[in-house]
Amino acid sequence: MSSEKKYTPPNEMPPAPIHRVLAGQKALVTGASKGLGEGIAIGFGQAGADVLVNYHGDEEGARRTAAAIEAHGGKAVIFKADVSQEDEVKAMFQYMIDTFGRLDICVSNSGIQLNAPLDEMTLYQWQRVIDVNLTGMFLCAREAIRLFKKQGIDRRISYAAGKLIFMSSVHDIIPWEGHANYAAAKGGIMLLMKSLAQEVAHLRIRVNAISPGAIRTPMNVEKLTSPEIFDSVLLRLIPCKRIGESEDVARATVWLASDESDYVHGTTIYIDGGMTLYPGFIGAG
Ligand code: NAD
Repeated sequence: MSSEKKYTPPNEMPPAPIHRVLAGQKALVTGASKGLGEGIAIGFGQAGADVLVNYHGDEEGARRTAAAIEAHGGKAVIFKADVSQEDEVKAMFQYMIDTFGRLDICVSNSGIQLNAPLDEMTLYQWQRVIDVNLTGMFLCAREAIRLFKKQGIDRRISYAAGKLIFMSSVHDIIPWEGHANYAAAKGGIMLLMKSLAQEVAHLRIRVNAISPGAIRTPMNVEKLTSPEIFDSVLLRLIPCKRIGESEDVARATVWLASDESDYVHGTTIYIDGGMTLYPGFIGAG
């Protein structure tokens, strides 16, 4: 096997078609100009949803995502908002209602990394990661829940009054030295998600999280293409021995947003090739 091939392992299985399980639903995905958000927004379009594509800086990326959704027959609009800013988040949800008239699915996906050992971490690095990765989730969740409560259940569209999905990370349970701000935000998302799920389940509002492992996106493409890190670290940490692709996350997110997962409340789905299985114990018995 050439080393080139080794760093870009193909998906062994041809992708199965995504069924139109979200037909007629209206979705909002934050950070959908690239990476996981882009894959999820396009997956929603394939599944029959109309989508608001949020972006922060990359308008061209957002337009590309929207065009891909429209190629699947869905309607897509783009909206620039910094998820850490209350007024911008409120304006985005207002635009959602003005455009689509309702909100069925909200995926709070935007996230950043500003890494440093803790004794070198600036207050800015700490605060900005908490603001985008945790407070941004709170602000979007609050607006989504307000809308879900107001609109209630319409059985012609979904059995739920609304579905809220937080994009977390395996680092909501795996500690990560040099990334304490990121891990603290992701750990915070876990109990934000569970507390909120407990609060609103009786209203048939479903709140869940997705925790990816190492997925090939612009956030980590350098790391995943460096031979040293790929061989010595990542594959040692991934029992199934392949890096994830954004489609791996998109497919699970479509399912979690659909009525096929109607009885799933307050759960985190780990999409990590087994990274959370303590692979250091393999062969250590
Ligand atoms: P990415 O860098 O490719 O994309 C991040 C997205 O967030 C971009 O669209 C960016 O514009 C948006 N964003 C950044 N700051 C924002 C802000 N202030 N307001 C609105 N949007 C903003 O990263 P990704 O790998 O696609 O990550 C997406 C999510 O998945 C993040 O929450 C990340 O923590 C999580 N995640 C990724 C991986 C992985 O391996 N890629 C693993 C675990 C968790």
